Amino acid sequence: MFFDIMSLVFEKDLKGGNMSQKYVYQFSEGNGSMRELLGGKGANLADMTSLGMPVPQGFVVTTEACNKYYDDGQIVTDSLVDEIFAHVAEIEKTSGKVFGDATNPLLLSVRSGSRASMPGMMDTILNLGLNDEVVEGIAKLSGNTRFAYDSYRRFIQMFADVVMELPKHNFEVIIDEMKEEKGIVLDTQFDDDDLKEMVRRFKAYYFKHKNEEFPSDPRFQLVESIKAVFRSWNNPRAIYYRRLNDIPSSWGTAVNVQMMVFGNMGDDCGTGVAFTRNPATGEKKLYGEFLMNAQGEDVVAGIRTPKDIEELKDIMPHAYDEFVEICDKLEAHYKDMQDMEFTIESGKLYMLQTRNGKRTAAAALKIAVDLVNEGMISKEKAVLQVNPTQLDALLHPQFDEKALKAASPIGRALPASPGAASGKVALSAASAVAMKEKGMKAILVRLETSPEDIEGMHVSEGILTARGGMTSHAAVVARGMGTCCVSGCGEIKFGKDNTFTLGGKTFKEGDDISLDGTTGNIYGEAIATVPASISGDFETLMSWADSFRTLQVRANADSPVDAKQAYDFGAQGIGLVRTEHMFFEGERIKAMREMILSKNEEQRRKALDKLLPMQREDFTGVFESMQGYPITVRYLDPPLHEFLPTKTEEIEELAKEMNLSVAQLEEVVDSLHEFNPMMGHRGCRLAVSYPEIAEMQTRAVIEAAITVNKNHPDWNLVPEIMIPLVGEVKELAYVKSVVVKTADEIIKEAGIDMKYLVGTMIEIPRAALLANEVAQEAEFFSFGTNDLTQMTFGFSRDDAGGFLSHYYDKNIYEQDPFARLDQKGVGQLVQMACEKGKEARPNIKLGVCGEHGGDPASIDFFHRVGLQYISCSPFRVPIARLAAAHAALKNK
Ligand code: PEP
Ligand code: MG
Repeated sequence: MFFDIMSLVFEKDLKGGNMSQKYVYQFSEGNGSMRELLGGKGANLADMTSLGMPVPQGFVVTTEACNKYYDDGQIVTDSLVDEIFAHVAEIEKTSGKVFGDATNPLLLSVRSGSRASMPGMMDTILNLGLNDEVVEGIAKLSGNTRFAYDSYRRFIQMFADVVMELPKHNFEVIIDEMKEEKGIVLDTQFDDDDLKEMVRRFKAYYFKHKNEEFPSDPRFQLVESIKAVFRSWNNPRAIYYRRLNDIPSSWGTAVNVQMMVFGNMGDDCGTGVAFTRNPATGEKKLYGEFLMNAQGEDVVAGIRTPKDIEELKDIMPHAYDEFVEICDKLEAHYKDMQDMEFTIESGKLYMLQTRNGKRTAAAALKIAVDLVNEGMISKEKAVLQVNPTQLDALLHPQFDEKALKAASPIGRALPASPGAASGKVALSAASAVAMKEKGMKAILVRLETSPEDIEGMHVSEGILTARGGMTSHAAVVARGMGTCCVSGCGEIKFGKDNTFTLGGKTFKEGDDISLDGTTGNIYGEAIATVPASISGDFETLMSWADSFRTLQVRANADSPVDAKQAYDFGAQGIGLVRTEHMFFEGERIKAMREMILSKNEEQRRKALDKLLPMQREDFTGVFESMQGYPITVRYLDPPLHEFLPTKTEEIEELAKEMNLSVAQLEEVVDSLHEFNPMMGHRGCRLAVSYPEIAEMQTRAVIEAAITVNKNHPDWNLVPEIMIPLVGEVKELAYVKSVVVKTADEIIKEAGIDMKYLVGTMIEIPRAALLANEVAQEAEFFSFGTNDLTQMTFGFSRDDAGGFLSHYYDKNIYEQDPFARLDQKGVGQLVQMACEKGKEARPNIKLGVCGEHGGDPASIDFFHRVGLQYISCSPFRVPIARLAAAHAALKNK
């Protein structure tokens, strides 16, 4: 049969003039380098086969076949079906068993396996090939009727669930009914006849709901199962997992079809999972568990308590010794900690799977450093082995694993700032502050946050907003503080009585709530957390990473405290001081409002004079914290209305303070109203209208730098002044002239020789398109990719979160463009601006300070386009350092 089909295929090729593509590989035909085609599981099964390890034989239907299935409109072509059965025939040859035969049956497992491991995200079908005749054959051959019918009922359940979308749970109901009828509690108490009856009831249930008999043709079962695994590539949990882990949908999944071996055929059978090192701590010691007389799902189901792998030594010494030997070989082969599944059938060990094991961040660091010390891998490999985003877990508190398992989320939104937080609902910044004063942990829940909430945000353990995306105020500020934040949860509905509802639950102030800023999950209960912890391995690995990277890593920080935090995390400067963040606290907001409400330049200058010493003091503190590293100060950027109150009582209070009537104040507030404030009177446009603001800010920067340079003559600090939201070189030239005139006068007066730079942000597409002109004036460019993304997509950075989920569901976009740089579109503008900027000014300094500066995939892009530095929030600095090392090593 095999040769007939192959010759047919060959004949077709000769006629068609091109070789037909191969979509199916026997394990013996593949190897570990074929991950892209065979998926991780398939490539490793092929590898283990060629290493002579005991692997039940099988074949892989490739990822290309999966992509073709989708390209063809979700059909499996006849030629693929032929190819699949040619490979089934190969298994029949090596195993001596026959698929669908009742006297000597071959049963198969069908499992997914993509290029990157996605544990539990896709589907699996076991015991495939069973029908009413074959089950009898299995019963006879094994001498174990109970086993045969238990396997059959499991198969019906899995096939109905995965292929026919009849939920598995409905079958559990039948099992429970039967237990009740028999007055038993455990599955193991069912006897042969019970299981036969269970199969009958399962099939009857299937018939009732599907209006057809349960499929008994093994060939049909196999093809339909392969299609179902292809389909599972696009189930909602797989899509979500891919987005979280940066796995493109274009990869597709492979399907592994393998001869079944049974761990549940008797007392000389068993099954288990093991890791070559402890995945929680990294300790170098075999770690795992197993169950005798069980199938894989029993180990994880939690009904029977699995035994420690060490105990296998006493129960089955031969199998144990062979397993330990294989573990050592596999770790030496893959040069990484392995996670393996095995089955023992009638005393014989079989390896079902091996893969690089998932591990906690602490274990990842320990294993990487240990493997170098053991001479197993190089430092480069060790650095590449640790996933940068995983470091988040070390830098922020996390949920206690056990407590988290017992909880279930009531909602999910954008994972805006990582870490875990548990506390009491606070519905206003003021109540968060009050709770903190009483020693309580507050979770601030707001429709959206505004700059006025800053103090409440600061004292809160976590922040939850109903509106706003990954670059919204809440997200940016929370990341800067290292506070957990989940944003854009549209399901939250605020009530009039100071309550909100989510997931069917109504919350009031003081109720328990927990947030996971790493996954975006929201829990309506208290969950215990464990504090952040950094070990010595962290320092070791980071020092290796630093030696490989070429990108400098700076931080976005607006206060001496944040700057100090950034310095401690290894930042080599500040790429963005958002000066407006300095104007929100206490007395400052008053002076700021006075400036905004001024009727003329004279009044404005008076208010600015009040702001000057505060701003100068902040700059001095920030400069001092960074110990001489370069610092970029960005001039006032947001629309002015953001500084004014919106609530009636606040307007009344401010009117009183400013000696204005409420009507007068409301008139000013109204006059500042804009329909599109993000495209309105903000950025350098403010300095064009009111140059005295730029004058004051220049005075503060230059005077602070003079003081710091006097205190530390060896630092030779060169402050970098950054003008935001430039779209036209002439507007930059205008603001720059104000800066230069002011700065030069101060420097001259001080009688010193101090340098400073004036540059701009590239955050408007026009500035990128005309970067050669802009570079005539700008001594540096810093890409403001938050605004650049907003303006290139035309998506509001504060609102897009609300509808982007529809785009992910429909596979239009795979990632949030505000979190991961859109290299195809926005990236083109970045690359073009770099090239044009260098054309006009060869030594131009190039960096990025948008939120993408802390995202590993975007960092790889910034490395490739030749930026000199990336700048991100302080808590992302270690991630950025490691990601920059990855970029340098991968693009060598
Ligand atoms: C940006 O737009 O990328 C940026 C860094 O500025 P902001 O987020 O303050 O607008
Ligand atoms: Mg901006």
